[in-house]
Amino acid sequence: MTAQGSSTPTKIYSKKCPYCSTILSLADTTCHACRRKVGDPDKHGIAIVPGKWKSYVYLAIALGILGGWFYVWKVYLP
Ligand SMILES: [Zn+2]
Repeated sequence: MTAQGSSTPTKIYSKKCPYCSTILSLADTTCHACRRKVGDPDKHGIAIVPGKWKSYVYLAIALGILGGWFYVWKVYLP
């Protein structure tokens, strides 16, 4: 197994809106069809939804708070 090809990714000249599949140029940050914000394209040429990672962060924080509360509850209650 060789690592050949990993350094030469497929060149992407356009990206697809993840919401309505409209073809956008790489420089576009907003879809001109549905007016939603789009990010950089992934390896499939589909624009990444900006802010999607934030929901994961919020989920992690929420779980952390929940876990913290569970810990406090276990420690301070008999
Ligand atoms: Zn769109």
